[in-house]
Amino acid sequence: MALIRSFAWVCLLIFIWAEPACSIPRYVKVRLFEARAGVPKLRLAGGIKIIEPVSRDIGFAGADYTVEAEGGRVALYAVPKGKKTKTLILRGSRLVMEESSSRGMRIVFPGRTACNYRGIVVVRSATAGGRPSLDVLNEVPVREFVYGIVASELPGDFAVEAKKALAVLTLTRLEFLPDQRAIGDSTKSELYTGCGRVAESDRVLVDSVFKERLYYKNRLVLPYYHSTCAGYTSSGDDLFLPDGDDLSYLKSVECKYCSGSPFYRDKVSMVDKKKVTALFGGALPVVQAKDSAGRPKTILVGSGALSCYQTWLKLGRGLGWSRVPGTRFAINSKKDRIELVSSGAGHGVGLCQWGANGMAGLGKNYKEILEYYFPGSKIK
Ligand SMILES: [Zn+2]
Repeated sequence: MALIRSFAWVCLLIFIWAEPACSIPRYVKVRLFEARAGVPKLRLAGGIKIIEPVSRDIGFAGADYTVEAEGGRVALYAVPKGKKTKTLILRGSRLVMEESSSRGMRIVFPGRTACNYRGIVVVRSATAGGRPSLDVLNEVPVREFVYGIVASELPGDFAVEAKKALAVLTLTRLEFLPDQRAIGDSTKSELYTGCGRVAESDRVLVDSVFKERLYYKNRLVLPYYHSTCAGYTSSGDDLFLPDGDDLSYLKSVECKYCSGSPFYRDKVSMVDKKKVTALFGGALPVVQAKDSAGRPKTILVGSGALSCYQTWLKLGRGLGWSRVPGTRFAINSKKDRIELVSSGAGHGVGLCQWGANGMAGLGKNYKEILEYYFPGSKIK
């Protein structure tokens, strides 16, 4: 569990370089359960009022409620406590819910603990793999969203100044977000598990930096961050290989501050060679050169080449992220097996979250932390 929770801090931020809108949206649309596509049913666990297709208060004392996808429509059922038979409450093209308490709507994804969400939640019917599924969208006030990101991405006992640094990066990210585009809730962008973990101190620290953004030469920076660099961050150009975006301002820096991370030391695992080559069209990736931070820079795969980041995504998605949590990896051939060695967690570009916490512990404030990991940048 600790590993899973820790790995949730790994962020794979990729944004399109665009002119900033210079004003963040008042509400953020978040597609919930992004990493678990295909869920046909959710359980509602409290703090919820139905507002569409009809306005209705539902009591949670005497029954459990489920929302289910049914052939293009969404149905709400009640199961009285102690009974197994469900009763249809309502059915419609979509179900819209709002919070009925300041603790938010409690929604349970099968097999997971409840998450609490502020704002409204819109549930529509969808199809995944030919089966009915639910599309769940949370429209959340922007401040509540940022509170939720800080509380979801970082452990509660991280230092306030490290949390402020992350809040500024998230607020900077929102400047690139067109008003109507929905974003995901997984580590593909930023982890968002709602408001359940938000402490009052999180609200205070986010409010204190709410108007601040990170700039490099008067342009908003692309706010890359990751869990643990384990010694050095990498430059954006080295890790992603230049593809048109100017990432030259994302420079490699030494980081002496993240040794407290559970991902700091090498992670070694053995994998069947066929499982690895199957991910790369039958070829075994061969590291040709490393960057100054010790991460692979160019990787030959058959007659082609991949970037470090592209190779890492294939390995992580194909073999499981616990085998290769960081981009400083080695692929060592051992007869019919592969020894995978990885240190750090996440892509290794921009802010190191565990390093930020280490710097804060040494008395650095959030501005000093951000200006260290983004050399030449300024907060305005
Ligand atoms: Zn670090």
